[in-house]
Amino acid sequence: MPQPPKARSNATPSPAPRHFAVIGAGMAGITCARTLTQAGHRVTVFEKSTGSGGRMATHSTLFGAFDHGAQYFTVRDPRFEKALQTAPGLCKPWSATTVRVLDAFGRVAAAGLPAREAHWVPTPGMNALVRHWAQPLVQAGAVELEKHVTRIERDALHPEQWQLHTSGHHTDAGDEVHVYSGFDAVVLAIPAAQAGALLQTSRLAPAFVKALEGVEVAPCWTLMVAFPQAIQPTMSHIGPQWNAARSTHHRVAWLAREPSKPARESLERWTVQASAAWSAEHLEDDAARVQGKLLKAFAEITGIRAEPALAEVHRWRHAQTVQPLGRSHLWDAKTGIGLCGDWCLGHRVENAFVSALTLALKVA
Ligand SMILES: Cc1cc2nc3c(=O)[nH]c(=O)nc-3n(C[C@H](O)[C@H](O)[C@H](O)COP(=O)(O)OP(=O)(O)OC[C@H]3O[C@@H](n4cnc5c(N)ncnc54)[C@H](O)[C@@H]3O)c2cc1C
Repeated sequence: MPQPPKARSNATPSPAPRHFAVIGAGMAGITCARTLTQAGHRVTVFEKSTGSGGRMATHSTLFGAFDHGAQYFTVRDPRFEKALQTAPGLCKPWSATTVRVLDAFGRVAAAGLPAREAHWVPTPGMNALVRHWAQPLVQAGAVELEKHVTRIERDALHPEQWQLHTSGHHTDAGDEVHVYSGFDAVVLAIPAAQAGALLQTSRLAPAFVKALEGVEVAPCWTLMVAFPQAIQPTMSHIGPQWNAARSTHHRVAWLAREPSKPARESLERWTVQASAAWSAEHLEDDAARVQGKLLKAFAEITGIRAEPALAEVHRWRHAQTVQPLGRSHLWDAKTGIGLCGDWCLGHRVENAFVSALTLALKVA
């Protein structure tokens, strides 16, 4: 009896598992790492700071926490929406969607913008979403914190593989230098300027370094102030009636009242972000001088002239993209070097997610 022809599978065989080094544990790095892991690859993430989150940052103080980087995120891409469903309830809509627009004197120029799209915030702090997604990687020992990657080079013994040099910043003994080997590919999920500098130091991917020259990212000085003396709702009598505002004051672009966000401590705290132009002009200024100037602007805009119990500034050298790359990612299949991050597509958290997801799906 003739045998029926054997069923032929149309599926392309999945590539052999590889070991990826991912540099950066922000939204892009963790998205890339978890996608590659889900596809069956081995991943090691290197992060120079003490935790994951990157510019989706939360600064803890004695007076409560501040979201001193990204303020909220919006969701337009169905892939991002789907990924968020893996963390049900973690991100909540922030009701301050009717953001005020202030004139240069702090007067409300527009009484409230219509809520075009929901403003989402992770709880209890902005870094919580990336940390949630990073958790399985951390548990698997795949995240190396406080490891600043300073050089990428070919492994002398296995020239088809990569090795990374790192320095640790927070050791009592000073900088600890390590070399990690055995990577088939390296993904740089870090701001464009830092990626360019690392590639240049490593004498790698000159075409990518050239492409990065067209990317422009603005800096941002951020002021954080706390007023524990204000017992709610008293503050509403001496402070403004709004919780978040864009401003045309020459120093300040954005103000947000931290306790107005969901699941935050109630103590009165404000995060104030300087305009890109003012931040660039004062980028190398002394922090105390910047703080004084931003405090003055804060008082002019809000009318709050009380002495804050806490005032701190943070300088973001690479805050928000002004001119993106215009491509979702960069990937060189021959060398196994890839780049992703918000700056590929835009200035938003979702851009970082989409860039990293696209790269990971391409290489997986
Ligand atoms: C002040 C400010 C306000 C913002 N407001 C908003 C907003 O309201 N809404 C919005 O959607 N987006 C906002 N953004 C932008 C948003 O934060 C970013 O788009 C997003 O977080 C970028 O993620 P990423 O993973 O691409 O980069 P990052 O978050 O910058 O992650 C890169 C990571 O790499 C690490 N790293 C860098 N170099 C090295 C190295 N050599 N070795 C090891 N680790 C390294 C860094 O420490 C960092 O953790 C804001 C950003 C800032 C700074």
